[in-house]
Amino acid sequence: MSNKSRKKLTLVTGAGGLLGYAIRQLAPKDTDYITRSDGDLTDFAKTKKIFQKIKPNQVIHLAAEVAGIGGNMMHSGKFFRDNIMININIFEAARINGVDKLISFMSTCVFPDKCKYPLNEKDIQSGPPHPSNFGYAYAKRMLEVQSAAYRKEWGCNFIVAIPTNIYGENDFWNLEDGHVVPSLIHKCFLAKKNKEDFIVWGSGRPLREFVYSQDVAKLILWAIDEYNEESPIIFTNSKESSIKDLVDLVVREVGFKGKVIFDSTKPEGQFRKPSDNSKLKKYLPNFKFTPLDKGIKNTVEWFIKNYPNVRM
Ligand code: GDP
Repeated sequence: MSNKSRKKLTLVTGAGGLLGYAIRQLAPKDTDYITRSDGDLTDFAKTKKIFQKIKPNQVIHLAAEVAGIGGNMMHSGKFFRDNIMININIFEAARINGVDKLISFMSTCVFPDKCKYPLNEKDIQSGPPHPSNFGYAYAKRMLEVQSAAYRKEWGCNFIVAIPTNIYGENDFWNLEDGHVVPSLIHKCFLAKKNKEDFIVWGSGRPLREFVYSQDVAKLILWAIDEYNEESPIIFTNSKESSIKDLVDLVVREVGFKGKVIFDSTKPEGQFRKPSDNSKLKKYLPNFKFTPLDKGIKNTVEWFIKNYPNVRM
């Protein structure tokens, strides 16, 4: 039976993480989820076996080695190697198993360090990325190249989305390697628990566009059905918040009453990376993003309810 004559089945890779969790909450029909424990995707034989067993028509390819600024600076080699290998294996396994549609993900840190703002889908390859994450960024940039090359030679409808800074339930809460939202929630929670100062990296002035995982999950399910362009699409509300704004929300939701210290010996990363959401708005003019205060409230509640049984 060819994949086309079967009922539509979607495979979500890397489903044990932040976005996998958010997609499960939306309970899309006929969807299979694989996590790290289902097999090592840097191994082609194992990846091929997974595809032969599940026989998906569509793939939401979330699996990746990711970290915040701390992890990216420490593991540039590992992040380059593992992401390139995973993506090569997933694309090839998808192609030879007749997958009709595949969506993969970059992040705005793949854009050139010196880029004109707002970041636009057209500019991804137009200069070197920020040195703090060049291994990860170059590996992820290849998703655009791979998708276009597969489209050109084999007609694969493989698309790429670029969410900005995602946060939400079931994030990775490591204090050193995590992204800023989960790390700060965890740190603030511990500072309250241990009656200590709450230490934030950098000056608090850098700006980021935070998007709630459940909003991104909705956009992914839309894109896998409706978005067919070769060029990537940025998922953002184009609303910048400073790290200080975020800290204030976290302090409020955690109920922390102690002292907040901005540690300028720690990395700041890029100052800002405002992104252009005009393409997204053209397709979905009425899409409503969750306000940051509401998303942070939900995320803090989830963390407190699940601690210490959280990924960290
Ligand atoms: P980025 O957007 O790729 O740079 O990734 P991050 O999610 O790691 O955000 C980094 C920004 O948050 C930088 O400006 C950091 O200085 C700031 N930041 C403040 N405290 C923390 C923290 O505890 N962990 C992380 N990862 N970043 C922090």
